[in-house]
Amino acid sequence: MVGIGPGGPLDRTRRAEEAIAASGCVVGYTRYMELVADITAGKELIATGMTREVERCRFALKRAAEGEAVSLVSSGDPGVYGMAGLVLELAAAEGISIPIEIVPGVTAAQALAARLGAPLMCDYATLSLSDLLVPWETIRERLEAVAAADLVVALYNPRSQKRTHQLDEAAAIFRRHRPGTTPVGIGTAVGTTEETIALSDLDCFLQLPIAMRSVVIIGSRTAKRIAEWFVTPRGYGV
Ligand code: SAH
Repeated sequence: MVGIGPGGPLDRTRRAEEAIAASGCVVGYTRYMELVADITAGKELIATGMTREVERCRFALKRAAEGEAVSLVSSGDPGVYGMAGLVLELAAAEGISIPIEIVPGVTAAQALAARLGAPLMCDYATLSLSDLLVPWETIRERLEAVAAADLVVALYNPRSQKRTHQLDEAAAIFRRHRPGTTPVGIGTAVGTTEETIALSDLDCFLQLPIAMRSVVIIGSRTAKRIAEWFVTPRGYGV
């Protein structure tokens, strides 16, 4: 399980590159396979569509059980809304006993945080707004709890073409607990050549383009804007 970071080669770890170099077979979602194309020449390459996660993991486990060294690539970190858990569950459920290594990567929230300044300096939560696998009611309850606890939040899967109301509801929940001037950072395709970064606030951020490849960071009540930066002070009192 190899986390390849948010996009470009500079954000990949050496461990990730070495794991891929040592593999004869590389499996992943088509877009992620393109992101590692510079280091996969000559290998068996299996690229599948976005919603074929179980199929992808099964295939990777099957090739590994046959004795091949397989890299199953995930964007960001494979343990953050990635496939690390699914692989471990599937291997156990199907009685496949092979050595598995999980290679961490820079997750989208961290990649965006570094572009914005230092919004994740203190306590924060990540929530996925995708209700494909989790009921919306559960996600709504978590949004309420995180908003009330004054945690900074990184929202993954904020919006897709078909899923638009979730982000509107999330914004309304946070607006009930935090001022409209609270900083909100938006990063789309962070770390790739199509990267866009925007800094807005709770009252205005919904007007900006936000899609499947975006991650959104909403500040806590102590969040500050310092020039073009978004900072959560740790409390040194500077
Ligand atoms: N394992 C990944 C997350 C996969 S879930 C990670 O650790 O980053 C897919 C969601 O991640 C997207 O909907 C988006 O919210 C976020 N994401 C992944 N790559 C991104 C990138 N380069 N820029 C911004 N958001 C990204």
